[in-house]
Amino acid sequence: MGQLKLSGVTKTFGKAQVIRPTDLVIEDGDFAVFVGPSGCGKSTMLRMIAGLEEVTDGTIEIDGRVVNDLPPVKRGISMVFQSYALYPHMSVYENIAFPLRVARTPQAEVDKLVNRAADVLQLQSRLQHRPGALSGGQRQRVAIGRAIVREPSVFLFDEPLSNLDAALRAEMRVELSRLHAQLGNTMIYVTHDQIEAMTMADKIIVLRDGMIEQAGDPLTLYHQPRNRFVAGFIGNPT
Ligand code: ADP
Ligand code: MG
Repeated sequence: MGQLKLSGVTKTFGKAQVIRPTDLVIEDGDFAVFVGPSGCGKSTMLRMIAGLEEVTDGTIEIDGRVVNDLPPVKRGISMVFQSYALYPHMSVYENIAFPLRVARTPQAEVDKLVNRAADVLQLQSRLQHRPGALSGGQRQRVAIGRAIVREPSVFLFDEPLSNLDAALRAEMRVELSRLHAQLGNTMIYVTHDQIEAMTMADKIIVLRDGMIEQAGDPLTLYHQPRNRFVAGFIGNPT
């Protein structure tokens, strides 16, 4: 479960319409990637889907249910941000368990869910460590663990790798693809990095100035870009 549908969604800040009327369907289990230059509205789009920002107009549906009026925790969605703050004084286990503690999940269930997340992310041997004792990649995985521990049907990632160096980014790209294959959830990923988009996406959505220029599978966008902007961004330059 995890189909997402946007119908006529807009967002206006003051007088500026930063998201123009947008229709989009992301199918259950898809790895969908929003790409586009800085300021084109990627984060705003994600924040509206997450429920961190109200839509000005239009509806957002998850599995056929309108979620416009639901708070983030009731949407079955979880979000990983660019800058992830781990709690330095808590163990990896407690960092991952944090959303469950907030939700007052019983300890037996916490144990089961944290261990399942740690398995997927290969953090089993690190659960009792403090974040300070981990590598950058492991810390990033803890942040992802915290997002997946409640097993939401949709994961949102807002440029989660942009603070990492190139080698680690490449490693995390592979890990996220593996995570997606293993969990089968819908993932919606935001990046301004074309390589990330091309290598990870089932579906790429190219945004410019709050509008979808083109959406489709990576090869279609690469070989049949609808216009110069799409071509310049991810298309075949020849
Ligand atoms: P991106 O993530 O693609 O870089 P954003 O979604 O952050 O773009 O921003 C899209 C546009 O909306 C930008 O022009 C930005 O300045 C504006 N914007 C974003 N958040 C706010 C806000 N809270 N108030 C006013 N303008 C905002
Ligand atoms: Mg952004």
